[in-house]
Amino acid sequence: MNHSFHHVDAKRVFAFIFVAVLVSIGLRQADSQDAVSGEPVADAVEVRADVSATIESENEADEIEDPPYTPKTVAELQKSLTPIQFKVTQNEETETAFRNKYWDNKKEGLYRCIVCGQALFTSETKYKSGTGWPSFYDPISKDRIGMKVDFRLIYPRQEVHCSRCEAHLGHVFNDGPKDKTGKRYCLNSAALRFEEAAEKSKSAKDKSR
Ligand SMILES: [Zn+2]
Repeated sequence: MNHSFHHVDAKRVFAFIFVAVLVSIGLRQADSQDAVSGEPVADAVEVRADVSATIESENEADEIEDPPYTPKTVAELQKSLTPIQFKVTQNEETETAFRNKYWDNKKEGLYRCIVCGQALFTSETKYKSGTGWPSFYDPISKDRIGMKVDFRLIYPRQEVHCSRCEAHLGHVFNDGPKDKTGKRYCLNSAALRFEEAAEKSKSAKDKSR
């Protein structure tokens, strides 16, 4: 007896699910047509999703202020940058390991693009890689940097650029800390300007720990 009851129940459940699926398909098709023009509205939905993703990543960047940026001519850059800063950021050269400004900098603060001042990395994701170049496992946010494949050596390398002024910063490798992102952003000090965290915000941070 019990068995046949179960059989009837199962049939009813399947019939219900079948109808529910048909109804939901019908509703979805109705949704994807714009009521007025009859145009599909899927594109509008995607655009909305993109906007909210951007807002989220901006929140993560923690209200960091960047100075305004006006693109400079090559002559202006040559004037405002030192020779090594110019060679690294504009000609994609690499400075000497252990003989650069920030490879061993352990101070708390922001690392900004030397050309446009956009904040790129923080001391929180800087780590000792042993390479002799400042190394980070993550940028402040992905929209602050750009990537390009570099074939200067036998094997291709991922170049890291500033997303705002396109200054060459260094390269990214996949041998970073495994417990973090696994990435190693190997940067040139000459492409960076370090801005030490203000004493006030540092002590506020210590208290909140
Ligand atoms: Zn820049």
